[in-house]
Amino acid sequence: MPVLVMKFGGTSVASLDRIRRAAKRVGVEVAKGYDVIVIVSAMSGKTNELVGWVNETSPLFDAREYDAVVSSGEVVTAGLMALTLQEMDVPARSWQGWQVPVRTTSAHSAARIEEIPTSNIIAKFDEGMRVAVVAGFQGISPEGRVTTLGRGGSDTTAVAFAAAFGAERCDIYTDVDGVYTTDPRIAAKARKLDRIAFEEMLELASLGAKVLQTRSVELAMRYNVKLRVLSSFEEQSDEAGTLVCAEEEIMESNVVNGIAYSRDEAKMTLISVADRPGIAAAIFGPLSEAGVNVDMIVQNISEEGRTDMTFSCPTDQVLRAEKALDAARVRGDINYHDLVADTDVAKVSAVGIGMRSQSGVAAQMFRTLSDEGVNIKVIATSEIKISVLIDRKYMELAVQALHDAFELERTA
Ligand code: ASP
Ligand code: MG
Repeated sequence: MPVLVMKFGGTSVASLDRIRRAAKRVGVEVAKGYDVIVIVSAMSGKTNELVGWVNETSPLFDAREYDAVVSSGEVVTAGLMALTLQEMDVPARSWQGWQVPVRTTSAHSAARIEEIPTSNIIAKFDEGMRVAVVAGFQGISPEGRVTTLGRGGSDTTAVAFAAAFGAERCDIYTDVDGVYTTDPRIAAKARKLDRIAFEEMLELASLGAKVLQTRSVELAMRYNVKLRVLSSFEEQSDEAGTLVCAEEEIMESNVVNGIAYSRDEAKMTLISVADRPGIAAAIFGPLSEAGVNVDMIVQNISEEGRTDMTFSCPTDQVLRAEKALDAARVRGDINYHDLVADTDVAKVSAVGIGMRSQSGVAAQMFRTLSDEGVNIKVIATSEIKISVLIDRKYMELAVQALHDAFELERTA
């Protein structure tokens, strides 16, 4: 029988009532003839509560015990979902990560899935079980300890199961009805996309669109898993939501398909660094070792052998960056006159695979911002993305202006 993966996020299983609603949707797919693998999150708010308990008990916690505690939320919803389905006369069984087993690395709290053997679950399907309810977000390390996959990780569990079982589709049920051209809370004209390419979704997810864990999109792209993002609160239909799929499956597409933003960016500038071979390595090596996620980098033209180097990183990593650079200075690996951090900036990005074949997108973006009187501080581009760093107070304005300029409210 064809397999379908259905993932329910925290708000979709937030109460017994909602679990019942979700189970009904599963029942509909079973009736169509699918064997279903249901991946559940913890009830909304539960994981935060568990993380809080761990921090309160032991601020410098042992990550293995952190995983033991925070993985428990999904265990509860998996069991409850299986019971609810059984009450509806749908043959269902719950599975914790270790029972499948979902084999992961031993990087506790940020483990990666390495392998999902399918034989245990397939044997149960063969015996007549119609739904395997699997606790998302968790697995088992080579040492035999419970691991978790990082916050938002049940999306990744879902895609990994879809890949392993060759599922026809992976439906991600959440509290929004799909992927939007931008955040509807910022731009009222934001439009739900019917389809979006993996690469675009990957950019949007890593730029902070919180619908899907970035890792899950990477996996979907690698294994060509059709992903559908849809709301569990709306009427069920085959056309609902947004399909995240290969570029080839999208007939018409706008040049720009999304405007993303991130509020918590900081701009850091090293003033007057000696400009010599190896200087970038001497700066960014220690930053990467300190776990600072550097995003944009600009090196100014140098004068008399000295230059300014600017980079951006998440606001909450500024202290770490300062410490790492200061240590490099003390060691004599770099020398600079000053390190200036500007934490009142935001990043706004335009994303679209159409940029590959159409020129002028950057020019139009810069003109639009200049017409609004928004000053650009740093620019970075990739094949399908242009990002600018601007003053945070202009972020909303910039998002709206760009959404208008690229006519994102219109379908291609
Ligand atoms: N419950 C976990 C979290 O809140 C995993 C997930 O829901 O995806 O991060
Ligand atoms: Mg999530």
